[in-house]
Amino acid sequence: MNNDSTLRITKQRQIILDELMRVTSHPTADDLYQMVRQKLPRISLGTVYRNLETLAGLGMIQKLEVAGTQKRFDGNAATHYHIRCQRCGRVDDLDLRLNTDLEKAAAEKTRFTILRHRLEFTGLCPECQKLNAQAEEA
Ligand SMILES: [Zn+2]
Ligand SMILES: [Zn+2]
Repeated sequence: MNNDSTLRITKQRQIILDELMRVTSHPTADDLYQMVRQKLPRISLGTVYRNLETLAGLGMIQKLEVAGTQKRFDGNAATHYHIRCQRCGRVDDLDLRLNTDLEKAAAEKTRFTILRHRLEFTGLCPECQKLNAQAEEA
């Protein structure tokens, strides 16, 4: 690989990272591909995906995986909690203090050294609650 293509890859990765950091919507690789394409019209979904995996591997972003749903990406690499709408799939950050007692309890139960924990709450977002209420009235 010559210097030119190394540089281009770095630039692509930087733009993908910038786009991801700009939003708090926890986009999927598809969503990000649509966003990045505005700046890099020739980029492929595969390239976006690979760069996201690399950034996640480097710990610069987070990958949110839940069985049966599309992976989401988060430009905020610090540990924080999430809440997901079961109906529309929306994922929001949850502004709750990290519960370090949980890590202590887990360490005591398992003799593991706990590095971090993740918590995701599931529910119905306000919009979906409204839709549900309307459906019940009808
Ligand atoms: Zn919803
Ligand atoms: Zn988040």
